[in-house]
Amino acid sequence: MTDNFDLEHIWHPYTSMTQPLPTFKVKRAYGATIELDDGRTLIDGMSSWWCAIHGYNHPELNQAVTDQLQNMSHIMFGGLTHDPAIELGKILLKITPPSLDKIFYADSGSVAVEVALKMAVQFWTAQGQPQKTNFITTRSGYHGDTWNAMSVCDPVTGMHQIFGTSLPNRFFVAAPQTKFHEEWNPQDIAELEQAIQQNHEKLAALIIEPIVQGAGGMRFYHPEYLRQAKALCEQYHLLLIFDEIATGFGRTGKLFAWEHAQVEPDIMCLGKGLTGGYMTLSATLTTKHVAETISRGEAGVFMHGPTFMANPLACAVALKSTQLLIEQDWQANIKRIEQQLSQHLVPLNQLDYVADVRVLGAIGVVELTFNVDMKTLQQQFVDRGIWIRPFGKLVYVMPPYVITQQELSDLLEQLVEVVKTLQGAH
Ligand code: PMP
Repeated sequence: MTDNFDLEHIWHPYTSMTQPLPTFKVKRAYGATIELDDGRTLIDGMSSWWCAIHGYNHPELNQAVTDQLQNMSHIMFGGLTHDPAIELGKILLKITPPSLDKIFYADSGSVAVEVALKMAVQFWTAQGQPQKTNFITTRSGYHGDTWNAMSVCDPVTGMHQIFGTSLPNRFFVAAPQTKFHEEWNPQDIAELEQAIQQNHEKLAALIIEPIVQGAGGMRFYHPEYLRQAKALCEQYHLLLIFDEIATGFGRTGKLFAWEHAQVEPDIMCLGKGLTGGYMTLSATLTTKHVAETISRGEAGVFMHGPTFMANPLACAVALKSTQLLIEQDWQANIKRIEQQLSQHLVPLNQLDYVADVRVLGAIGVVELTFNVDMKTLQQQFVDRGIWIRPFGKLVYVMPPYVITQQELSDLLEQLVEVVKTLQGAH
């Protein structure tokens, strides 16, 4: 199953080095198929943590990387620029909220979040309000694993307990309670309103994942929450940061999740699906107003500049991936996936140990009443030829958009069978 070297020396995400969870060695991947070293194939239900939207080994994405490789794989972005960054920027501005106008490229989703938080602080400092340095967010959020990103993740399911007082203290309110398809409950915004009212003088921004809270619980909430949150930010002078790292590029049925609410943020973070999952790249977009204010400040510059900023290979493949997505009838495709997810997963609601089944776009979630044993469940999925990585009480799927109807049926049939076997396991 796994090399001894890997087991003994290589850290995998969120695991112990002495009692690691098993890993499965992958030889290659293509389309929605992951081929293991021992020859077994798995149908991919995870898109490599939301990012491989066009599946693996895509000929056009491969070509984009190969073509760029002939020119340069990397060049510093300080004092130099290049077409991949420029062309990608043009397409991003076309598809993101109209008020966003400036783009900062960085290395990963977490860094995009750090950049967004730094922008917000510099924005207020430049306006002579250096006390506006803190952030407010909702519980059940997830924004990444770097220091400040971590500080705005859910304090319970996040890593606050482990890192304790080393993390900056943020303001948290309850996660939005009204579900996406439910009738809006006006009480839902009350806590946020009160917290902003009381603390706005210290607050630089509200940061939130629009519509779908991903790794913090796979929750889908009502668009009205965002409309009211935006109004509060305007009233009390907070910037609004949308973390669209997980929701971007079609996953929720809209190209970006802000469209569900038609609320434009001041700052927006993109990552994951940006490169079609080929390599790491993120972008933090902001408005002319925010960028010009920062630039007028005493520092006069935005203080961030990673070594691999706007990496040309990553920008080239991101450009191709985005073109591929918007040039096809992606809405119809996501609808097809959504319908199939509903058809297979909703009946699981009848099981007494299934707390909830929810589907939005190409995201299907089965929430159980108990925490799953990831190791056992993962093995069962692999034995049945599917790749799904559950966490906590959640068994969820986010397949690559290229998954065929047949592959998706096979994947979901096996998933459903495994969930049914959990009867008595809790
Ligand atoms: N924000 C959200 C909403 C995410 O889902 C993630 C990744 N799961 C991140 C930020 C962090 O991105 P990365 O892992 O690329 O640092």
